[in-house]
Amino acid sequence: MNDSITESVDVVVVGAGVTGLYAVHRLRGLGHSVRGFERGDDVGGVWYWNRYPGARCDVESVDYSYSFDEELQQEWDWSEKYAAQPEIVRYLRHVADRFDLRRSYTFATSVTSAELDEETLRWTVRTDGGEVVSARYCVFAVGCLSSTHVPDVPGAGDFAGATYHTGEWPHEGVDFGGLRVGVLGTGSSGIQAVPLIAEQAAHLTVFQRSANFSIPAGNAPLDEETRRRQKADYAERRRLSRLSGGGSPHAAHPSATFDVSPEERRAAFEERWELGGVLYSKTFPDQLTDRAANEEARAFWEEKVRALVEDPAVADLLVPTDHPIGTKRIVTDSHYYETFNRDDVRLVSLRENAIERIDRTGIVLADGSRVELDAIVFATGFDAMTGAIDRVDVRGRGGRRLKDVWSGGPRTYLGLGVDGFPNLFNLTGPGSPSVMANVVLCAEQHVDWLADCLRHLDEHGYRAIEADEEAVEQWVAQCRDRAAATLFPAANSWYLGANIPGKPRVFMPFVGGFGVYGEIIADVAASGYEGFTLIRG
Ligand code: FAD
Ligand code: NAP
Repeated sequence: MNDSITESVDVVVVGAGVTGLYAVHRLRGLGHSVRGFERGDDVGGVWYWNRYPGARCDVESVDYSYSFDEELQQEWDWSEKYAAQPEIVRYLRHVADRFDLRRSYTFATSVTSAELDEETLRWTVRTDGGEVVSARYCVFAVGCLSSTHVPDVPGAGDFAGATYHTGEWPHEGVDFGGLRVGVLGTGSSGIQAVPLIAEQAAHLTVFQRSANFSIPAGNAPLDEETRRRQKADYAERRRLSRLSGGGSPHAAHPSATFDVSPEERRAAFEERWELGGVLYSKTFPDQLTDRAANEEARAFWEEKVRALVEDPAVADLLVPTDHPIGTKRIVTDSHYYETFNRDDVRLVSLRENAIERIDRTGIVLADGSRVELDAIVFATGFDAMTGAIDRVDVRGRGGRRLKDVWSGGPRTYLGLGVDGFPNLFNLTGPGSPSVMANVVLCAEQHVDWLADCLRHLDEHGYRAIEADEEAVEQWVAQCRDRAAATLFPAANSWYLGANIPGKPRVFMPFVGGFGVYGEIIADVAASGYEGFTLIRG
């Protein structure tokens, strides 16, 4: 096999999203030779792929941006509280230019396999472009939400109109003017896209299987004075974010829900509603562990949303009854609920009237009625957290496939190591806070830990690091037990793999919070990497 190797490097990094880009920068800075591969033809990750109308971040831009370089923080001006996709991609391109990151990447190239050589403990990484790279370390930064999911609806292939997935949106954009459009799916992507598609289309039908909790973003342009204040306060903002559960500087109310008066409770919900978006789930610290506390938050939300929707029968369909608020990521929207007040928008609840099939001209429902369509938008989400790495043939000790090792659900130690796969790291994936927090800071947290770890190995003459089986078992149990102590398992969410037929139902992220997790992994490093075996060369 060695005679086919085209290149030999210290590190291969797979992916050029926020995580991969920072990994390339940091590891190159340590003096390692780094080779990056990216399936897309440029940097950006989810922001490269998700170009649907209305795509924007749900963590404030000032927080959803890198903290590792003070000059970068100070020089970049965000135009809005929640920046839209084109601006975020511009930012990531700016980062790539500023730190000269593209030179380490081959774009439009997918990594297809990674195989461990048990003698040398090096990885042989193969791509669909024919490269065969030998690397000491193999770093996956392939994203939790980068493997799109299109449900298997009978007849979908017969549809004569155009079909799109929000996560693979055409770069040239789509003109829905004059068209009858159907949007299938009401997660964050669907809810963000619906108001803008409704503005363009002749008629829009929204097909909803499960209603979702969404909260207006309260998005607004940032003026010069706000930006100046935010930048002056950046160090404190980041300090609070690093201690927090979600990687943002906004702490939950200091008291539990029922330890305050009804008036104070209402004022706290009102304040979070005004703040906008996803952080509503963290108004009170017990909101995601105590059913009664959760119900208080939910009832306030329902009152607010019913006030936005003119037709009470439509509002009935838009109010979720199947999961506690916050147990699926709360969506951050702009005028979603008001969109259903338009005459040219219809909501079809698939719970009452399921899709029977798609045919040449539209969608046929269980009651025999048809919805004639010119275009269908699948806002149907992702094979989350494991989908992208599952597509790569990763083989560790004894030729064992990672996909098989994870067939009952992902098994990691700290989200960072897997027994049998030395020197292989899957960043911001299962077993870490990742998608439950601000992922930009999660990426920095993982990459910084990794950089310190690789330096430690070199300084002490080790050639490899490998998670211990027992540590993996304990971490899997800890992640499971922490999730079981919350309300999260009560929702059929993608956190649990519930959106993918046949996927094992296992809560995949670490639910204990970004700050707590940071302390755990820092303690492990300080202990000399307890739970890992360091292998001498
Ligand atoms: P990604 O951005 O997914 O990048 C991974 C890259 O790896 C992709 O470009 C992919 O093409 C590439 N890749 C995958 N497999 C291979 C392979 N085999 N070979 C080569 N390349 C490969 N999180 C937040 O915290 N706040 C937000 O506001 C937020 N908004 C989001 C909006 C959308 C529409 C989506 C889908 C997700 C959002 N997220 C948000 C979560 C998002 O996943 C993270 O914020 C973050 O962008 C992930 O970065 P990443 O680099 O880890 O992964
Ligand atoms: P998602 O949350 O998984 O939503 C997918 C939607 O498609 C759900 O409404 C789902 O219904 C529906 N669906 C799936 N299969 C279906 C089927 N066979 N028939 C009918 N409906 C079906 O995916 P997403 O909206 O792309 O969001 C994924 C995650 O990406 C978010 O949770 C968030 O973390 C991130 N994101 C963030 C933003 C942002 O605001 N910054 C924007 C987009 C995405 P069920 O609920 O019934 O399964």
